[in-house]
Amino acid sequence: MQNNSDRSQVIIIGAGIGGIATAARLARHGCRVTVLEKCEKPGGRCGRMTVDGYTFDTGATLFMLPELYAQTFAALGERMQDHLDLRRIDPTYHLTFPDDSQLQLTSDLQQMRARLEAIEPGSFERMLHYLGEAGRIHDLAMPKMLGRDFRSLPEFINPRMLQVFLQVKALTRHTSYIRRFFKDARLQMAFTFQDMYMGLSPYESPATYSLMQYTELADGLWYPMGGMYRVTEVLTSIAEKLGVRFVYNAPVEKILVEATRKNARATGVQLADDQVLPAGTVVADADLGYVYRHLLPDAVAADRIDRKEYGCSTIMFYWGLDKQYPQLGPHNLFLCGDYRQSFEDIFKRTSMPDEPNFYIHAPVRLDPSMAPAGYDTWYVAVPVGHINNKISQDWPSIQAHARAFILQRLARLGLTDVEAHIRTEVSYLPQDWQNRYNLPLGSTHGLSHKLTQMAYLRPHNRHSRYHNLYFVGASTHPGTGVPTVLISAGLAAKRILEDAGASK
Ligand SMILES: Cc1cc2nc3c(=O)[nH]c(=O)nc-3n(C[C@H](O)[C@H](O)[C@H](O)COP(=O)(O)OP(=O)(O)OC[C@H]3O[C@@H](n4cnc5c(N)ncnc54)[C@H](O)[C@@H]3O)c2cc1C
Repeated sequence: MQNNSDRSQVIIIGAGIGGIATAARLARHGCRVTVLEKCEKPGGRCGRMTVDGYTFDTGATLFMLPELYAQTFAALGERMQDHLDLRRIDPTYHLTFPDDSQLQLTSDLQQMRARLEAIEPGSFERMLHYLGEAGRIHDLAMPKMLGRDFRSLPEFINPRMLQVFLQVKALTRHTSYIRRFFKDARLQMAFTFQDMYMGLSPYESPATYSLMQYTELADGLWYPMGGMYRVTEVLTSIAEKLGVRFVYNAPVEKILVEATRKNARATGVQLADDQVLPAGTVVADADLGYVYRHLLPDAVAADRIDRKEYGCSTIMFYWGLDKQYPQLGPHNLFLCGDYRQSFEDIFKRTSMPDEPNFYIHAPVRLDPSMAPAGYDTWYVAVPVGHINNKISQDWPSIQAHARAFILQRLARLGLTDVEAHIRTEVSYLPQDWQNRYNLPLGSTHGLSHKLTQMAYLRPHNRHSRYHNLYFVGASTHPGTGVPTVLISAGLAAKRILEDAGASK
């Protein structure tokens, strides 16, 4: 039995990236940590599936912001390069526009000049200006907004922060901002579509997220050999080496709390098989809205989270093909139909556009181990609205429409035989994301990253009442994406260690 008043006895709910990284950081500082995971293996949204010899990353595929990964390794006393075999991807993206014209984004400035000038004379210099500004936004936003642990309202709302908001263009819409640099609609798309990685429409998102285009071209887009799941594997094995105990197939059913007039605290967790595990500190990596609704007793607080806005979901097709398609790069984005309308359909109608945008990750050209020899592995993602219980959403027919549309679109581009070469197929709908990882509304990126849900206004990394209950992961500050979730793990671990020190 644990002594549950000892804060160094930690239980973490969920072995997603947030849970694993928090566990490893705490274990390195001497805490005894157990991670309870409902699935049979770690990773959550940074997961992997192997079927018929094809290996698929199931969620994250883009390794961006390498310095944030490196910081996590360093905090664990390790060097990233000793664990991950990273290969730089260039061109970063193969883009196909609605009119079937194509553009490959690259860090090679000579090539980029030729490609951009062919689309819009003068646009190369303006791209340099745009990226220069985005770099400045990146350098400011990282320490002052994303990496900062806002603990009180005055820390967030004050003249100095207002200055930062203006400097990082937090009050300017990304699509309005991009029009200052490019007239051609294709270039406007090429430098805003990445907002979808935050589960956001570029018509709603602040221009702050231009930092993503900067980091992709300046710091690079990378591929860890073995796929993004290598990040999960490596961090899990470092955590185990530091003494963390992982228990799989262990869904937590309740966070146990006690409250007196003087003191309110979490005392441990109860598993689905009724087993009670006491703890001095509880960390929830399971998505925040789910934790409030299903694991904690306070329905009013859960309602408050439910009223917040969630990001979009995705329909996934994981295709194992018995042929290779050299026409594709590692990351391919197909923009289709009307750009603005496509985001209205996803975010306002919570549905899917008639002509949906889609993304294909085809890792075999970087890493032949991802498919049997001579074959191809495709991860096809179609952004769609999240589950909306107020309207009728016929997901099987939306899924069938998406599949047919993708095959037709590829055929129009000359890939006419794809369907005949699909040997293996697995598909996820928003409900699968919800059921598999307990993601509210099947939202793949959790709570939206709109301005009113960022920084101090995003749920914090510590519960406001139970001061030994902490939150990490995509729906907490600072937000979604593997590197961003690694920041949340760093902030939560720091707070836990500070609080433990203070309570001694
Ligand atoms: C389709 C898709 C594409 C993405 N692409 C990228 C990308 O290219 N690059 C990038 O950086 N990021 C990407 N992301 C985002 C990134 O994967 C996530 O932000 C990150 O992995 C989330 O980690 P997490 O720890 O917050 O949550 P999760 O990964 O959701 O982990 C939470 C864990 O808690 C477990 N759990 C839930 N309830 C319980 C319970 N009751 N008891 C025990 N365990 C429980 C879940 O099973 C899960 O393993 C993508 C995400 C998706 C879904």
